[in-house]
Amino acid sequence: MAGPCAVESESQLLQTADAVVAAGARVLRGGAFKPRSSPYSFQGLGVEGLKLLAKARERTGLAIVTEVMGPEDVGLVAEYADIMQVGTRSMENYSLLEALGKCGRPVLLKRGMSSRLEELLRSAQLIAANGNSQIILCERGIRTFETATRNTLDIAAVPVLKTVSHLPVIVDPSHAAGVRSIVPALARAAAAVGADGLLIEVHPAPEKALSDGEQSLTFGQFREMMADLRRYVPLSRGYEDAHARAFVAGGAD
Ligand code: PEP
Ligand code: MN
Repeated sequence: MAGPCAVESESQLLQTADAVVAAGARVLRGGAFKPRSSPYSFQGLGVEGLKLLAKARERTGLAIVTEVMGPEDVGLVAEYADIMQVGTRSMENYSLLEALGKCGRPVLLKRGMSSRLEELLRSAQLIAANGNSQIILCERGIRTFETATRNTLDIAAVPVLKTVSHLPVIVDPSHAAGVRSIVPALARAAAAVGADGLLIEVHPAPEKALSDGEQSLTFGQFREMMADLRRYVPLSRGYEDAHARAFVAGGAD
């Protein structure tokens, strides 16, 4: 899954969609409703952004993932999105999670930046208990004492979640890294440890991005990262096979 942090304009989004589909992405990301830590930052294009995402889907065949911030927007976002994203700041928005349980679309549930994995799983259970079992869990980095990266990528979350849950687990290295130079290294780690997917920020001109430019890859960097990742994906099979064997033998539960 790849695309800009925020949908900014038609040309920005369509150019990015063309570039990421050519490099092997299956899903286009892009925020239309943005949870910003400052009221003075770009807040997103709203419905206009959703329409541009639908246009990009029509043009490229990519599925769309986009964030929904409140229960009142669930119906609207579900009209456009193929996957409904719950942001890190919303993991404990229980009325949103309940509404997503009834929305009829898969949900990409991000781990709260200060949440334990058991809390992430409880939020997933709330969506499931409301009727929706199509849930993708996402590790996007957590707050720790370390400040060298924007967040600390908890790579152990992947095998832990896959041990206790049948849900797919993906990794967002962009929001963990905070800087684009280390995104590919974190993506490699995620692929090797058995993540089912990646969520990557890509922008045609990261230095001009209205949000998260420092961590957004250029088209060339995304293409290179995708080509390089092919070497790491088979590494995860060792883990998956060993885990499955241990499970069958009763060695893991
Ligand atoms: C995003 O995906 O752009 C985003 C806001 O992510 P998070 O909720 O993980 O901060
Ligand atoms: Mn972002």
